[in-house]
This record gives sequence, C-alpha cells and structure tokens, in this order.
Amino acid sequence: MTVIADVAGPAGAGSPGAPVQLSEHLWQVAGAGITHPWDAAAYLVLDGDPILVDCGSPLGSAALEAHLERIGVAPGDITAVVGTHGHFDHVGGGAILATAGVPILLHPDDRAAVAAGDPVRTCAGPLYGQAFPPVATSALADGDRITAGRVTLEVLHTPGHTPGSTCVVATVDKQRVLLAADTLFGGFSAAIGSDAAAWEVSLERLAGLDLDALSFGHGVSRLLDDPAGRIAEARLRFATYFDPWFKPPRHTFRY
Ligand SMILES: [Zn+2]
Repeated sequence: MTVIADVAGPAGAGSPGAPVQLSEHLWQVAGAGITHPWDAAAYLVLDGDPILVDCGSPLGSAALEAHLERIGVAPGDITAVVGTHGHFDHVGGGAILATAGVPILLHPDDRAAVAAGDPVRTCAGPLYGQAFPPVATSALADGDRITAGRVTLEVLHTPGHTPGSTCVVATVDKQRVLLAADTLFGGFSAAIGSDAAAWEVSLERLAGLDLDALSFGHGVSRLLDDPAGRIAEARLRFATYFDPWFKPPRHTFRY
C-alpha cells in the first residue's frame, strides 16, 4: 500500500477538490467539494485490498478516478463497492466502475431499481434531472462482514430512507466508525420507498451500536465524535416536522 503524504493540490474555481484522509487507512474520496457538488460522501478503506463504500454519481466519476490514482489505487484494483443504497448520488457511478470489473454490492431491496435505471427510485430524474446508468449488482446482506488487511466492514440493513438502505460499521485504525450514508439526515419520500416506521427501528438499532466516530452522506468531510450523542440528537429530530432533514445538514446538526 502506498499513501502519499500530501494530496491537497491546487484546485481552481469550479475544479474538483482533493480527497480527504479521515484516518490512516480511511479516506473520503467523493462528495461535495471533493468530486462533484451533487455527490454524496464515498469512502476508500485502504489497508490491503482497496474497498469503496459508495462511489458517487457519474458526474464525479472522472474526479473520483483521479483521486484514487493520486492515492495509488487504480480503479480496476478495487475489490468491491459496498453500496449503501441505490441513489444516483451514492452509486450512480457504479456502472463506470463495473466496466473496470469492480463488483457493485447492494442490498436486494434496492437492486431492481439500479438494474433498471429507474429514474424515480434512484432519484436521478426528479432530484438531479439525470439518467441513472443501469448496473447489475451483487447482493449485500445484513450481517455481511468484509475484511481487508486490518480493516473490517460490517453491513447493517437499515431500511427507512429506501427499502434497501444499509449502514457500514468500519473497524479501522483502532476505531469503530459508522458510515451512515442517508440513514442519518436523508430525505423522506414515499416515491422512493421511504418508510418512517422502518426508519425509526433502524435508528434505534444505530443507537445501540458501540461506536467511536461517525460520518454520513451529506455532512462535513471529517469524522464526527460523540456518535452516541449525535445519533440521539438525530432521533429526537426525526419526523418532528415535515421532511425535517431535507435541508443542508449544517443547518440542523451541530458540528
Ligand atoms: Zn439517498
């Protein structure tokens, strides 16, 4: 494994930014300010075989690929993309990586929408005015454990935002890090299969986890401390008024 010391090169106005090293073996490689403004956070765990958790949209794919190469990872070297759910901003770039032979893993309850490029279920059409490049995925299941070097990724099925939403608990650099994607602060819409009752159960499950840090899909590009306190705060805010999490997170969440 090669980690270069300084990847924060110059980024002109409108240019993609640089990947952010969250801890020694954990990087944020996609997201607003990193790849494309619409991209959700995507993560690279790099301790042995490289694995991505989400991969952003096709609009950010070229920047993602450039970032990976700066870190020393060729797209074809990626063992798998662990998709947190089937939305354009999280796995819309999956078809491009799949052409390099990278398996895209997704919970079965979101796989059909992604295989068909369903514009509504993937949010690509209504939210972004884009087409979702269809991609055949492999099944991801609750309880799956993926290991690479000293890193372990545990998959939790956490339906609510979408039927097939998952969270990943990464044990990396002696920390248990929750990669919550849109299970924390994602939008609610019946059109994408959101389910408030299921979501509340999922949040209760997150509250029971033993964690050291967390990150979610549309937040700041660093690991947040006090995960238990932040999850408790999120649960208190959940559904207290219509669509409470559909504002930029910085307005509803303390950093
Ligand atoms: Zn989403």
